Amino acid sequence: MITESPLITQLADASTPAASLRHILDLTPSELNDWVVARGWPKFRAGQLQKWLFHRRVTSFEQMSDLPKPMREQLATEFQLFAAEVESHQVASDRTEKLLLKLGNGETTECVLMREPNRVTVCISTQVGCAMGCVFCASGMLGLKRNLSPGEILEQLLRLQTLLGLDERITNIVVMGIGEPLANLPAVLQVLAAASSPEGLGIGARHITVSTVGLPARIREFAHTGKQYNLAISLHAPNNTLRDKLVPVNDKIGVEAILDAADEYFEVTGRRVTFEYVLLAQVNDEPQHAQQLAQLLRGRCAHVNLIPMNGVSLLPYHEPAAPRTQQFVAILEQAGIPASVRKRKGADIDAACGQLRLKHEKS
Ligand code: SAH
Repeated sequence: MITESPLITQLADASTPAASLRHILDLTPSELNDWVVARGWPKFRAGQLQKWLFHRRVTSFEQMSDLPKPMREQLATEFQLFAAEVESHQVASDRTEKLLLKLGNGETTECVLMREPNRVTVCISTQVGCAMGCVFCASGMLGLKRNLSPGEILEQLLRLQTLLGLDERITNIVVMGIGEPLANLPAVLQVLAAASSPEGLGIGARHITVSTVGLPARIREFAHTGKQYNLAISLHAPNNTLRDKLVPVNDKIGVEAILDAADEYFEVTGRRVTFEYVLLAQVNDEPQHAQQLAQLLRGRCAHVNLIPMNGVSLLPYHEPAAPRTQQFVAILEQAGIPASVRKRKGADIDAACGQLRLKHEKS
């Protein structure tokens, strides 16, 4: 329910340079080192530069005050620090904040900052649009345009970081924004390496969750990074007949292959896999669906995260009434499957993935 009208601020963004320059956040740490050495600067300057990029919340090279002025000028002539413009910045009554970022060619992407006591979670996007076509999701309604680059994804994290107070820091990352992260896996891995390394954002892999529609080969690849990232799989249905209808790519994959890949993820990383299940009234919320889901997950080290459908104006799906949701939870728990219901954040600012971008593209 909307309890307060959102405060919407349009930020003027003076720091957006010419689009032809390279995005500095696209560079890996070793590429950054190479650049510093190739320009004749001592190696330690690369470490200083990294610190400015990830820890010090600056918006221009000029602000990197302990780098020599000529080096800052060189950086500014060769690179852009932030390549996108802030198209809109919304703040919800629960202090959830959402940025709509304008990329080149009129493309846009979204990212969200969510506050809870002792926890600041950011949600980031990995593609412009999405090719998966899940029938209840706003992100895929306009199809897929392209993958985001590592720099475009990291920029979301760093821009959100600039919104924090000095006593706040990002504690958790969820890769649950627009797009299918495992369809852009190399870029996502580069971003997560930067996010989790101490020289980068220093957010432990166990505090980072990647949500996927369920691409088995990519899940196996993701299992073998040597890191303990969390994996969430968007199951949404306990059988192939229903899943084919809700998640169209399922007809080429199937629930069994996804569960096999999830088992491998758990065996290799030791991390309990989360299965997301969007509750759609009178579609997948029957007691028999809960029983079937429990059957499917029995004996697995799994957790079910139920997501009440976030209304999308053009779509005919709705969240079930609360007692129905509680009944679904109770059936899973009686069967020994841990389950939780996702809390809604930023309800008054279109914070669910893809909604703001969809509105913008349609207007
Ligand atoms: N492509 C990834 C990330 C998608 S967004 C994936 O499929 O997991 C993260 C979660 O939000 C997914 O589980 C997605 O299915 C779900 N979601 C999408 N639209 C939604 C809506 N309108 N209401 C509730 N959940 C939604």
